[in-house]
Amino acid sequence: MQIQADLHTHTVASTHAYSTVTEMAAAAAEIGVRLLGITDHGPGSPDAPHLWHFHNYKVLPRRLNGVHMLYGVEANIMDEYGSLDMDEHELSFCEWVVASYHTACVRFERTPETVTQGYLRLCENPLVDVIGHPTTAMFPCDYEAVVRAIRDAGKLVEINESSLRWKPAALENAYRFYALCRDLQVPVVVNTDAHFAGLVGKTPLAEQVLREIGFPDALNYSLDADRIMAIAAEKRGIQFETD
Ligand SMILES: [Zn+2]
Ligand SMILES: [Zn+2]
Repeated sequence: MQIQADLHTHTVASTHAYSTVTEMAAAAAEIGVRLLGITDHGPGSPDAPHLWHFHNYKVLPRRLNGVHMLYGVEANIMDEYGSLDMDEHELSFCEWVVASYHTACVRFERTPETVTQGYLRLCENPLVDVIGHPTTAMFPCDYEAVVRAIRDAGKLVEINESSLRWKPAALENAYRFYALCRDLQVPVVVNTDAHFAGLVGKTPLAEQVLREIGFPDALNYSLDADRIMAIAAEKRGIQFETD
């Protein structure tokens, strides 16, 4: 499986990532990723870029090294009410919004009840495109309730290669979470969450999970970059170049 769209990656603008946007796009072109999402961390993260990072996306090209680009953010879910660390004005500068929980950014008591409620409220936010890495052990939740809420809100949920690789229990939990997505017909995107150019487009663990649970290709939108571009064009008026 080679994903055509990698919609969650980080650049040196988040200082625990190590490649520039140009290097990320070059790596995408090399491996065959046609659509690359740059989603550095929102301001709730300890090493997030200044908000001007997002405001100035206008200077970047629609296409870089032949790769179609989406300039967005990985916003932080801050509490059990699904609040984000960026308001509507700030998010208006972003072309693609992944929303994720991170332990460094939250203060509330994490229980299955509070985390589930956070995801359910998050799904009511029309500016969010993708629910980020939902299977980590640090944020336990009621998978069935969350997957149903994602479905009812018409959002995408990601299977995140980096969390499967490095976060405790994320891989084991993924089998159950994405089987529910399969059963409830919820589309997923496969994202690397690459913090280094050499990791762009490489998703062996996500592929293993999807293959072992018999996940249908038709529900894996990362296999169809045109489909994602159509979603972004319709929602935010982005005019992609034709190939
Ligand atoms: Zn994250
Ligand atoms: Zn990330």
